[in-house]
Amino acid sequence: MLTPVRVADFVLDAIAARVGAVEPEQGGALLGLPGLDYVTEFIHDGGAATTGTRYQNTDWLIAAIGAREAATAARFKGIVHSHPRGMPVPSSQDQAEYAESLRLNPLLARYLAPIVTHDVDTPLAGHEVRLGPARISFYGAERASDGFVLAPVRPVVVPVARMLRRAGARPEGDPAAIDVEGTTLLATHAQLPGLGAVTLLLGADFPATAPIVLPEHGDGPLALGWDLGVPAVERLAGAVLALRRGRARDREGRDASHRVEAGAEDQTATETVRRDPAALLFARTEGILLPTLADRSVLIVGAGSVGSYLAEVLARSGVGAFTIVDPDDVEAVNVGRSAYRVADVGLGKAFAAAEIVLAVNPSARAGVHAARHEDVDLAALVTQADVVVVATDDPQAQARVGHFAYRAGRPAVFPGLYQGAQGGEVIIAAEGSACFACATGGVRADLQETGSGEVAARTDYGTGRLIAEPGLLTDVHHVAAIAAKAALGLLHSPDDDVAAARFAHGILKAGTTYAVFGHEPDYWIFAELMRATPAQYAYQSLWLTVSGRSDCPVCGDPAGRTDPSASQEPDVDLIRALRDGA
Ligand SMILES: [Zn+2]
Ligand SMILES: [Zn+2]
Repeated sequence: MLTPVRVADFVLDAIAARVGAVEPEQGGALLGLPGLDYVTEFIHDGGAATTGTRYQNTDWLIAAIGAREAATAARFKGIVHSHPRGMPVPSSQDQAEYAESLRLNPLLARYLAPIVTHDVDTPLAGHEVRLGPARISFYGAERASDGFVLAPVRPVVVPVARMLRRAGARPEGDPAAIDVEGTTLLATHAQLPGLGAVTLLLGADFPATAPIVLPEHGDGPLALGWDLGVPAVERLAGAVLALRRGRARDREGRDASHRVEAGAEDQTATETVRRDPAALLFARTEGILLPTLADRSVLIVGAGSVGSYLAEVLARSGVGAFTIVDPDDVEAVNVGRSAYRVADVGLGKAFAAAEIVLAVNPSARAGVHAARHEDVDLAALVTQADVVVVATDDPQAQARVGHFAYRAGRPAVFPGLYQGAQGGEVIIAAEGSACFACATGGVRADLQETGSGEVAARTDYGTGRLIAEPGLLTDVHHVAAIAAKAALGLLHSPDDDVAAARFAHGILKAGTTYAVFGHEPDYWIFAELMRATPAQYAYQSLWLTVSGRSDCPVCGDPAGRTDPSASQEPDVDLIRALRDGA
């Protein structure tokens, strides 16, 4: 295999959306940084006259390559095109064209000729990358004394777009190659959370080195703490968060010096908090929680109304480490029903929630993934956490994250709401108890059988949304508070002699791991149950006993359990791009 080629991830996305989106044949040009095996641009040859088996590039494409080379620092690298299913290799006709291209482009050291095929049924080889429901197989043609040598090329995907997304950045278009004093860099404008409009310059050795970040208003480049110890896609997110924390500390310092003038008493309190935040956090929870929470880590998937509230409550309770996963930004409409403030609008929810955590407890650690659950390494994240909180409202996401957590032996808590928060539920799953899927499946089946089917039908279950309807924040909080109490308890060991541990581990021991709540009078079965009880209104709760199926792939007999990491699910991101024709 020839030396590897680096390919920016947004180029693969573009190829997926144009060449991978349709059956053969389609094609386009690859451009990249001059003198380097680094592909940073794709030009789709949309007007090519193609057949089911043949793609011939147009004169328009040749002109477009020339125009791009004149306007930017990018240079021609080769042509990508698709093939029929099961033919992931260049044809003899292709090879004739490679020879011709090498002849016409004397400056080209290697002609890149990836082939896209529309199947991923067979395992990917070292020179192949998945493109949603398609695959791309990389080949390169190099000159040789008697013509040229064609060989598979290993692609190295450079995570530019994914890194920006995880940092909550909104880039304006894809990065383009520009020349800065003789060095070619990839440049893009983007909105970065808390930093505003910036220009990002990525060198050829990115992600090994940090991008240069130039604020569009303000001083020169920002110095990013570039942590090579974390995965490349997370580095910008971590660097931006650290930068913002530093700024917040500076602000705090200024505020503290104002307080020195105002009175020595305030300053002492501030100093105490700064020196030992846990001491104050635990002053009122002795016997309920243990200070060991400072060493515990929680993974929160979903940072909407439920997740943001949970992050805040757990931070105020002294939990020391958080990993927060959410792809969305805070919107103005969220402020009325979450822990977010107007100042957070536009920030990634994962960032904004992490900031709440750090504002409450500056000695806490907060990791941020501005990404969907499909786009993070769930196996790693659940393993690093002591407890998983699944605060997303998507039942499929709940089941998937629940599978990873169960597999890793980490207790998980699932708060959910339905019917405009008139009702809600909290499900606890841990080794020995029913998994999320078994718990919900069983209870929902019971609802149908016991004639409460009408209620079941009116819930949002099955629509993919649990909290789609407007609901009162206090009702959301009621369910989230119970989930938080369960999570706090599960962050303790069963032997810890404090109230929170007895609460959560008692539920697991009793097997009553499915709690339902009513927030309105006469909600669901509570009217029936409470008929003879005077002064019953709301809020009511029931803790139901649920059991797992022995054939369940998540919680069933250990021999039959499946590994969620092994299921090869298609890249949802790319499929979405294909569908939207982006
Ligand atoms: Zn071909
Ligand atoms: Zn199960």
